[in-house]
Amino acid sequence: MSTTLLPHKFGPYGGQFVPETLMPALIELEREFVLARNDPAFNAEFDKLMASFVGRPTPLTYAKRLSEKLGGAQIYLKREDLAHTGAHKINNALGQALLVKRMGKKRIVAETGAGQHGVASATAAALLGLECVVYMGSVDIARQEPNVFRMKLLGAEVRPVESGTKTLKDAINEAIRDWVTNVRDTHYLLGSALGPHPYPTIVREFQSVIGREAREQMLMDAGRLPDTVIACVGGGSNAIGVFSGFVNDEAVELIGVEAGGSGISSGKHAARFGDATKARVGVIHGTQTYVLQDEDGQIAETHSVSAGLDYAAVGPEHAMLRDNERAFYTSATDEEALNAFHTLCHTEGIIPALESSHAIAEVIKRAPKMKKDQVILVNLSGRGDKDLNTVIKELGNGE
Ligand SMILES: *Cc1c(COP(=O)(O)O)cnc(C)c1O
Repeated sequence: MSTTLLPHKFGPYGGQFVPETLMPALIELEREFVLARNDPAFNAEFDKLMASFVGRPTPLTYAKRLSEKLGGAQIYLKREDLAHTGAHKINNALGQALLVKRMGKKRIVAETGAGQHGVASATAAALLGLECVVYMGSVDIARQEPNVFRMKLLGAEVRPVESGTKTLKDAINEAIRDWVTNVRDTHYLLGSALGPHPYPTIVREFQSVIGREAREQMLMDAGRLPDTVIACVGGGSNAIGVFSGFVNDEAVELIGVEAGGSGISSGKHAARFGDATKARVGVIHGTQTYVLQDEDGQIAETHSVSAGLDYAAVGPEHAMLRDNERAFYTSATDEEALNAFHTLCHTEGIIPALESSHAIAEVIKRAPKMKKDQVILVNLSGRGDKDLNTVIKELGNGE
């Protein structure tokens, strides 16, 4: 069987912009992934872990009171917040950890901003008996203490990163440096649909379980496909996961929501597609895609109330979907996301992640303009427990 079966690019985006020393590892990873995907035993093991450990399939919930309140489209929530560790990230972390076992490697390195991918990676490593080192900017370590403690409880080593802005992009640099040095026994467990080929494809495939389930559940529960699918977009993994279930259904509109921060004109945001002055195609962390940058091509600083959306680049497949207008991208500000957070708490009894609240904010804008027999599916990527401190600070006592 040929082993380089996967396209390296999404139109002009993606590719492998890495040091020569990493090419053998990327080639090995691609070969192993292609073999694994065609191996019924591997797929059975993945499915079994998804069911018995992660709690899949996650439910589809009809949001009755939210739909009534908005007075337009019927709204359904895909409940990734109910997956083990509280978000979709575990799907990809476990999938890659199974690949690591298959490759005979013993050690994983990961990067984390808010700590969610670090927790998912540490969880997968504990379950499968792998050594786990998580790189995290020292600024993020101070901001996300409970997740740092969780990772340590799960047996991971958390290494503080003091370079640059001491946040996610610097943690990624360090994780890549470690990987280059230890590539023989170490796998870089990348947390979103980003990075050099084959990562964006691998992450999409492991997250596509969201879209497959959601499509089936929509047909079962609503008796039809949704008119619109909405998801928040950080690196783009939960969005590409749910979109992949509907991308061949031409009539289904796909909407990604980026972090609008304090508003596009303020310059404090992470809307890679939304800012005509700062967003251009560039290369970052091994891939070519839309990157927020200054005139010299230096990576711009980003801002969002939700750490998971606070990154200067977007996954390359989203760049292609946007160019060919199969998907459309918009943004929600911090304030809109916080309002949406409250609305979902009050109407549905669900405390969403601040990332997911950006998707809800778009639902709140769109649903009232739609007809009552139309349907929106929104991917609720995670639960909000991790965000309570942020929300309390922003909104006072939450009443
Ligand atoms: C990390 C995270 C995101 C953003 O990452 P994507 O790769 O864009 O999905 C969104 N929601 C939650 C709950 C997260 O933890």
